[in-house]
Amino acid sequence: MSLDTYSFSGRKKQVSNKKLTWLESIYLVAIAKGMWVTLKHMFRKKVTISYPEQTRPFSPVYRGLHMLMRDDEGRERCTACGLCALSCPAEAISMTAAERKPEEKHLYREEKYASIYEINMLRCIFCGLCEEACPKQAIYLTKSKVFAKSNSTRESFIFGKEELVMPLEMAIQNSKQNQA
Ligand code: SF4
Ligand code: SF4
Repeated sequence: MSLDTYSFSGRKKQVSNKKLTWLESIYLVAIAKGMWVTLKHMFRKKVTISYPEQTRPFSPVYRGLHMLMRDDEGRERCTACGLCALSCPAEAISMTAAERKPEEKHLYREEKYASIYEINMLRCIFCGLCEEACPKQAIYLTKSKVFAKSNSTRESFIFGKEELVMPLEMAIQNSKQNQA
């Protein structure tokens, strides 16, 4: 069978050059058929939604934006071991490690910490492997419903510690809840 006549969908029709009948030439039947197709779709359940006014329900296992966690004393948990970056299939994570100074014990839980920690959100596929790989429970994919951040430059999608580290007030609140 030649490719000219083969139809993958089975709906391909040979074009005919035969002269139209009078009924065909006024297109009433064709218009009626088209209207029927339109009418049928008007009463079907819509598959689209009016985003962003409407959103679809989130799955119970939904994974949202990342957060770099603090412990109960408000110190950053991350020790810059790099396991999250190693496990990331999208190579979205990068970091720079630094030594904690004696006067910084209240800021960082471990002797080593990430002075720079970045996630390229244009690469991230929200698979959660970074969270699974972390031995310090330092990175967590939140249930944040903000999943479609918008911006006009690529650089703005590289999230640094300013965007990722848990707000201190939240750590204090969590600590109070744990003690209650
Ligand atoms: S969620 Fe997956 S893709 Fe995104 S940073 Fe973590 S490991 Fe990488
Ligand atoms: S987030 Fe966890 S796995 Fe990643 S560098 Fe920090 S401690 Fe290591």
